Amino acid sequence: MGKHTERRHKLRAQVLEKYGNRCATCGFAVKRALEVDHIQGGGKSDRRQRHQDRTTWLREALKDNSKYQLLCANCNRIKQFENKEWEAQKQFEMQLLS
Ligand SMILES: [Zn+2]
Repeated sequence: MGKHTERRHKLRAQVLEKYGNRCATCGFAVKRALEVDHIQGGGKSDRRQRHQDRTTWLREALKDNSKYQLLCANCNRIKQFENKEWEAQKQFEMQLLS
């Protein structure tokens, strides 16, 4: 494991600790399955930024816990699915209007 990866893992552990080491939705408490989630889903640019530099994003989550939450892999997928559903519904409505 490289130094950079090691530091990121440490940072991730700190973030998990700050957010209570459990899923905000269902309380699932297996660290390996927990993911840091942007509560608002973020914009597209925000998501791109997040992929660019995960360390920066984890640091931000450690500083400001009003924008982030911990979700287990299941709840995160469900949330993504629901968001996508909502997006599809919106597009469908816009088609009806045009
Ligand atoms: Zn969960």
